[in-house]
Amino acid sequence: MIQNLSLANIRKILGEDNVDLTDTDPVIQTIIIDSRSVIQPEHTLFVALRGAKFDGHLFIPSLVEAGVKHFLVRSDYNTPQEIEKDVVLFRASDTKIALQKLSTYMRDQFDRPVLAITGSNGKTIIKEWLGQVLSQKFSVAKSPKSYNSQVGVPLSVFGIEAYHQVAVLEAGISKPKEMQVLENIIKPDIGIFSNIGTAHEEGFASQEQKLKEKSKLFINSKYIIYRKDQREVEGFLTSHFDQEKLIAWSDNPGSDYTLSIKRDSEHTKIILIKPDFGMFTFQVPFFDEASLENIRHVIIGAITLGMKESDIQEGINFLKAVDMRLTLKPGYHQSLIIDDTYNNDLAGLKLALDFMAAQRPKNRKVLIISDLMQVGNVEEVYQEVQKLIIFHEIDLLIGVGQHIHLLKTGLSCEQQYFQDTASLLEGLQEDAFENDLILVTGARIFEFEKVVNKLQQRIHGTTLEINLNALTHNYNFYKTKILPSTKIMVMVKAFAYGGGAIEIANHLQQLKADYLAVAYTDEGVALREQGISLPIMVLNPAQESFHLLQKHELEPVVYSPEFFIQLGKYCRLQHFKMKIHLDLDTGMHRLGFDLSQLGDLKVLTERFPELQVTSLYTHLVGADDVEHEDFSLKQLALFSKMCEQIAGFLGHLPLRHALNSAGIIRYPAYQFDMVRLGIGLYGVEVNGIHDTSLRSISSLKTTISQIKHIEAGETIGYSRRGKLKAAGKIATIAIGYADGYDRRFSNGVGSVMINGQKAPIIGNVCMDMCMVDVSSINAKEGDEVLIYGPGISLKELAKNIGTIPYELLTNISSRVKRVYYLD
Ligand SMILES: *Cc1c(COP(=O)(O)O)cnc(C)c1O
Repeated sequence: MIQNLSLANIRKILGEDNVDLTDTDPVIQTIIIDSRSVIQPEHTLFVALRGAKFDGHLFIPSLVEAGVKHFLVRSDYNTPQEIEKDVVLFRASDTKIALQKLSTYMRDQFDRPVLAITGSNGKTIIKEWLGQVLSQKFSVAKSPKSYNSQVGVPLSVFGIEAYHQVAVLEAGISKPKEMQVLENIIKPDIGIFSNIGTAHEEGFASQEQKLKEKSKLFINSKYIIYRKDQREVEGFLTSHFDQEKLIAWSDNPGSDYTLSIKRDSEHTKIILIKPDFGMFTFQVPFFDEASLENIRHVIIGAITLGMKESDIQEGINFLKAVDMRLTLKPGYHQSLIIDDTYNNDLAGLKLALDFMAAQRPKNRKVLIISDLMQVGNVEEVYQEVQKLIIFHEIDLLIGVGQHIHLLKTGLSCEQQYFQDTASLLEGLQEDAFENDLILVTGARIFEFEKVVNKLQQRIHGTTLEINLNALTHNYNFYKTKILPSTKIMVMVKAFAYGGGAIEIANHLQQLKADYLAVAYTDEGVALREQGISLPIMVLNPAQESFHLLQKHELEPVVYSPEFFIQLGKYCRLQHFKMKIHLDLDTGMHRLGFDLSQLGDLKVLTERFPELQVTSLYTHLVGADDVEHEDFSLKQLALFSKMCEQIAGFLGHLPLRHALNSAGIIRYPAYQFDMVRLGIGLYGVEVNGIHDTSLRSISSLKTTISQIKHIEAGETIGYSRRGKLKAAGKIATIAIGYADGYDRRFSNGVGSVMINGQKAPIIGNVCMDMCMVDVSSINAKEGDEVLIYGPGISLKELAKNIGTIPYELLTNISSRVKRVYYLD
């Protein structure tokens, strides 16, 4: 934070004198909202937020235990007995607003330039790149990751330190009225309006409204940078803002800056013509439209802050298409690697360590870390790192660089130090780790990707990348569609719809989902063996697996009288009480008790009290289709009736649940006590009502193995099915039907994305490879190929080959490596 806060000061800022401050007035150095990250309890203020999905107040007793003494709570918070007298509770009717007030105060203490970015696309990339380019000359504060929300922006402001010379923040909103709040906090001197996009955004009635709301960030800015070729942005800004504030750039002459593009095979040149007709040619390593737009915003942003073109180019030379994500990758011997090879400051390290803390338990916690590039007092920075290491209970520390050994004094964990990355690589044995959790984090010049490369299990060039933040987003979206009291069971059957059950289940456990469901006992056993402790329902358990259900506390679905008897007898013999779930058939006619079997069921529940009926459910046959609405409503009515009868003879009412993802959207009145979320979590809104509200969670990627030049008339692939219209080039890519890339995509039905451009499939998809037409695409061997992901609709892909998204998702072969990240 820019300065420490006294308690008296906090009280003044909050404008409420609801606390008696008798203390000697300790100072607050850190403000947190998350119970995981308490490093200096005595100097921490915990702000308890309450939302649809969580309540920070619940953490207060454990934080008090950890030594935290200062809290900002809601006025209606009842102080629990066990909280001692020397704890200071500030009260506010809305703690989020109070948090924002504190950050506004902090922002106002910073008298150096603040640049802020908003728009629909590219905000985070522009912020990251601009931060890197500016750090050639300045000490830069920037929002961590994509902290751009009503809570993320205040937290970003707390990350600004007194020694920073410029701050770069991003602001994102999802509905009207939010931007005023962010503007009041950030008060940017310079604004960048990034790409506005044409997609409808759910929270906004029209494109016009979207522009109007987003541009509120800039009402008090001195300058607003935008791309003139974005006609809507241009139209809006020129009619609503003073001309002298606006800094326009374009591909074409006629605006303040012209930035035209010239691509060659190795680079792209950006030719800048300034208002004074000065010229400069930049060279950038990007070819795709989006990156070229983003980097041009960065150039103009840096020029506006007074940077010389040659220094900007210097900064760009260090940019790669950087991966600023925190990524989870499988390592050798069951180790799990957290790849944070692009990180250079304390804020990033804290996030990475928190991410580490959220992973399932492993043998040891290993931290491989380079010198930090943090500007400031070196000793202080490493003292801070030391505290983090102790707090996160790291078992083995491997440090690389000139300064990192400053950590040595005061740490009791096992430690190894290396001068540089080369000597680490030489000294590092792949089998040094077994079942460990390894965080690899370092500044980019240390090239720690080589370390990750060495430790990472190499399988095959095709990966399925799962964005855990997008998963959280989708989960929270469905949470907003149901009552806070309704529970959520998440379906992680079929390898979590192809996404990988264990990591996804672990993440759901972090999100505090109520229940998980799998199809078969083995799937449940695997989750338990990897430390998943949530209750797990098993849809279709086999009789041979009863002992496994018992051993691993899995809760089977019972769907027939015969099955009831078998399981009841087993439990009686074992003197074991088992929680069970009853499947009620209201029209699916797959498994389950019919209305006519409830009499039998009554007798059975009396005969086998060992089986404790925990929930009752049914499944809709056509929840996603209006055409079946009458039938769905009939099913739901029958379900209610059956539940009533069962409750009558059980003497209690178990949990009831009927809705799948589509049903949550269409029949919220029938959410009962719990809903069963499936495909929606994985990013597909099958109703098509809220397509723009969900985020795509997975990207299937591979690489180009070879490029070939083909003459007109030559054929490509098996059965000579592929032909180019004229001479051209094709790329062979490392994915085939054995990976789950459907053979029905053959002969131009499917296409893939290479460097932002569409490349159609040529010829038949083979088992492990296929060929695509890259005649008009700038592509080389080793380039990344996107099969599907954000921007490519799974529903459309499925439709093209006559199937449903469920099949595409679950078909991805287990040999495709799954990689998880937070963006
Ligand atoms: C798979 C499944 C769901 C989830 O369905 P989605 O359409 O993926 O939301 C819900 N209930 C049962 C019984 C299921 O088998």
